[in-house]
Amino acid sequence: MQAETTEHLIKRAELMCQRRGVRMTPTRREVFAILTKQDGAIGAYDLLELLKAEVPNAKPPTIYRALEFLQTQGFVHKVSSANSYVLCSHFEKHHPVQMLICSLCGNVQEIHSSGIHQEFIAQAEKQGFQVQHQMVEAVGICEQCNHS
Ligand SMILES: [Zn+2]
Ligand SMILES: [Zn+2]
Repeated sequence: MQAETTEHLIKRAELMCQRRGVRMTPTRREVFAILTKQDGAIGAYDLLELLKAEVPNAKPPTIYRALEFLQTQGFVHKVSSANSYVLCSHFEKHHPVQMLICSLCGNVQEIHSSGIHQEFIAQAEKQGFQVQHQMVEAVGICEQCNHS
């Protein structure tokens, strides 16, 4: 579903890293590149298998450390209900994110509703709850699966 090429996305991500003074190591770069080639979300172990093609001695901690970095930088969102990861192509901006997860094909789409986000925070505050990280995920049938 990525219209942008892997190379272009990597360039954008590397520029962000430079600006923030953090390092896009070869392993992190490779994990990022693999994620750009996925149609939907992918689990950590599937990622590890793909990473091994480039980094044969990669171990689970390798992939988890790389994913943690990519998440912290906002390049990747975690899909909690599916325990998988998906590339974010709007990583230059901090944005609220809600996930639409197709139960048939596994495709994951992001929506960015500030309204949902604000309402969520407001409702939580009424309960005296301080939100640190908000995840909203919906499971359903995507447009493509609906029409086939
Ligand atoms: Zn995003
Ligand atoms: Zn689908």
